[in-house]
Order: sequence, then structure tokens, then C-alpha cells
Amino acid sequence: MRCAASCTDDLRPLPEALIGRPQTAPLTAVERSLLTCPNCGDRLRPHVLWFDETYDERHFRFHSSLEAAAETDLLVIVGTSGATNLPNQVAWAVFQNGGTIIDINPTPNPFSELARRSPEGQFIQQPSGRFLPELIHAIQTIMTDRTRRCP
Ligand SMILES: [Zn+2]
Repeated sequence: MRCAASCTDDLRPLPEALIGRPQTAPLTAVERSLLTCPNCGDRLRPHVLWFDETYDERHFRFHSSLEAAAETDLLVIVGTSGATNLPNQVAWAVFQNGGTIIDINPTPNPFSELARRSPEGQFIQQPSGRFLPELIHAIQTIMTDRTRRCP
């Protein structure tokens, strides 16, 4: 969450008291107070990009994420439709600079073909909940083996 009036760039977690509450139930006064900026008293809002907004450096690190993507060797894309601009630009920056892309998604998406065309890249057509544990285990095994060889 962040301040809707942008009085600060501080990010706050969703108050735990609101997690799991029925979405159709009206907010109580206490719940409303949890959704208020402690600095200025304006509303807190989700820290997500809404349809009438654009990615910027202040809130979404637009330019710095593209700079980082240009130096990225491996990009793992998990469970996204690719419907927004910044993730697409990040993937293209990695691709154009010769990075490897692995796309894990149950359905083909704009990143699938990019992943296939990247060096050693792959489109893994599976739910991320099924494949990610395997991927993490494989990475941990590789890292453990490297640590043993290079103490
Ligand atoms: Zn504020």
C-alpha cells in the first residue's frame, strides 16, 4: 500500500486485520483507519499500476529496471499474461542483450516465443506451483555443488 496523495514514497503492507476479511462486508471505522496514511491522513491505495496510470521511476523504477534488464543474464517470467508495458520492455531488453529467458506459464503468452528464441531459453507450459519447486530445488543443488567444489 502507499499514500494516495503521494505525500511519501513509503510502502506499507496490507494491514493483517484486513487480510481474509469478506470483500462484500462494509468497512468498519477501525478498518477504514487502517487504510489511512499515517503521515497526511489521506487514503492508502494498493501499490499497483491502475489502468489510467503509466509506469514511472518514482513508484515502479521504470528506467532503473530497464537498465538492470540490459545487464541481466537470466530472466524467469512466472505466471503473467504480459498485458502490461513494463514487463514486456524488461523481457525485450533482456532478449536484445542476449540474456536467457525462461517463461513458466500454463498458457502461451507474449513471452513464450521470446523465451524459445533466447539463448538456452525455454517456455515451460506448466502451472508455476508445479514447476517452481522443481526449479528451486535444481538451483539449490547446483549452488550446493559449486560451494563444495569452490570452498
Ligand atoms: Zn500521505
